[in-house]
Amino acid sequence: MPKAVFFDRDGTLIKDVHYLKNPDDIQIIKGVSEVLLKIKKAGFRMFMHTNQSGISRGYYDWEDVYACNRRMLKLYKLNADFWDGICIAPESPDGHELGYRKPSQKYELEMLQKYNLEPSLCWMIGDKWIDAETGLKSKMNAALVRTGKQISTETEKLASSQNVPICEDLSSFCKVHLFQS
Ligand SMILES: [Mg+2]
Repeated sequence: MPKAVFFDRDGTLIKDVHYLKNPDDIQIIKGVSEVLLKIKKAGFRMFMHTNQSGISRGYYDWEDVYACNRRMLKLYKLNADFWDGICIAPESPDGHELGYRKPSQKYELEMLQKYNLEPSLCWMIGDKWIDAETGLKSKMNAALVRTGKQISTETEKLASSQNVPICEDLSSFCKVHLFQS
């Protein structure tokens, strides 16, 4: 059955830099490159879904985000065509409609349909509750990592009540939840 993992970018794949604009400001997270390759090799389709309200706020433009995404792959020594799909959500949270902005699950539902993915075999991984929420609303599994924004006690409670594991980082997520054996 076709399966996939959806990744948040900031705080999950790279360190969370406030309104990241300059590719030179990207800080990598140890182990991410290896883990991404491992997941892809295991047959998961790979997606990245990132909220970038800095675009609609005018702090930076699309080209800046593309440049950061390209630079991230370079730093991780991954091919330019590594992702099966990328969703950059430019909306700001005070907009009238969420559009593709998480916790909107619009992108996930589109990809589930496009690639005929089985949601129960798919994961959404991020550092904020909105990431988990996006996954759960799409009937996928969801997990949080502690490499980004500090996870509050409130979020920890919410996560445990909804079966969302909280992992130290992507590598430990992978070990515990994707490749148990
Ligand atoms: Mg994040």
